[in-house]
Amino acid sequence: MKGSVMSLLVALALVAQDRLAGGQEHRSYDYTKYHTMDEISAWMNQMERENPDVVSSMIYGQTHENRNLTLLKIGFTRSTPKKAVWMDCGIHAREWISPAFCQHFVKEILGSYQTDPKVSMLFKNLDFYVTPVLNMDGYIYSWKDNTTRLWRKSRSPGTGNCTCIGTDLNRNFYANWGTVGISRNCCSAVYNGPTPLSEPEAKAVNDFLGAHQNQLLCYLTIHSYGQQILIPYGHPNISAPNYNDLMEVGLAAANAIKAVHGKSYKVGTPPDVLYALSGSSSDFARLIGIPYTFTVELRDEGHYSFLLPEDQIQPTCEEAYQGAMSIINYIHDKNFRGSASTVTATLWTTLVASWISSANVF
Ligand SMILES: [Zn+2]
Repeated sequence: MKGSVMSLLVALALVAQDRLAGGQEHRSYDYTKYHTMDEISAWMNQMERENPDVVSSMIYGQTHENRNLTLLKIGFTRSTPKKAVWMDCGIHAREWISPAFCQHFVKEILGSYQTDPKVSMLFKNLDFYVTPVLNMDGYIYSWKDNTTRLWRKSRSPGTGNCTCIGTDLNRNFYANWGTVGISRNCCSAVYNGPTPLSEPEAKAVNDFLGAHQNQLLCYLTIHSYGQQILIPYGHPNISAPNYNDLMEVGLAAANAIKAVHGKSYKVGTPPDVLYALSGSSSDFARLIGIPYTFTVELRDEGHYSFLLPEDQIQPTCEEAYQGAMSIINYIHDKNFRGSASTVTATLWTTLVASWISSANVF
């Protein structure tokens, strides 16, 4: 008798323990680890399910291998159109810290909008469109085994006599396409594709940005590595009409980053601080008139390069979050905090900047 009561108590205790563990597993997601595409997709569903008032998802295209390109739309819902901020991560497959940052960013804003008046204000006036992994096919391939870990490009096959796989999505946009910093050899890591927007992933972003160009105040694309905040343009012969403003906002973001863990980020155009390039997503975004576009290269400076250890995920994301928030708050305040005349002046500046920038296309 005693024995069976004992077994019952042990069994109950085990069930209780099991439930607790199961519940915790369901609730907590480990933001200090790299995650597979399946885990990230499940996480996106979880974010939407747990925050139905402020998170919805939208499919805006398909990858070469027919996966749905899905973004999270985050902010307070409003019947009239809102201004918006775009963020994409994982355009290059091997830059695993980038999707980790998008997830960290979403976790942080969702965790603070109810208590932090500043974030709450952002949710009121802006929508965030966040794509945690843009190059889904390539990302999945980079998880296959050690030989594929450093894959960068998409997974579409070459054309004609060239049989290598993949196009560099960040050379495939319609922004001075094929002029500089690319290769026409489809086996190259910077092959820009047979034509502009040949890749469905680039086409999907192109179409979304085009359809929302009047709404979007800011375009952020997250890469690694190098610790840089890059502003348009990648082509050395053209300059953004708001270059000075972009530099100022970029330098403020670098200061915000440095204040967290002391890391230095360089700020400038790709030709000035990295190398010249063409066909990038952020150049395209600036060309169509989105005023604030930045490419952020996260840690490190080359020691671990694309193989950044997991113990650096959290500090990298913490500092980059402050950098991103520095940019977003600046843009928000510029658009929503001024007097009526300041807001009008800002609108005029943006309009003129868009017009000058459109003229640059020619
Ligand atoms: Zn990259």
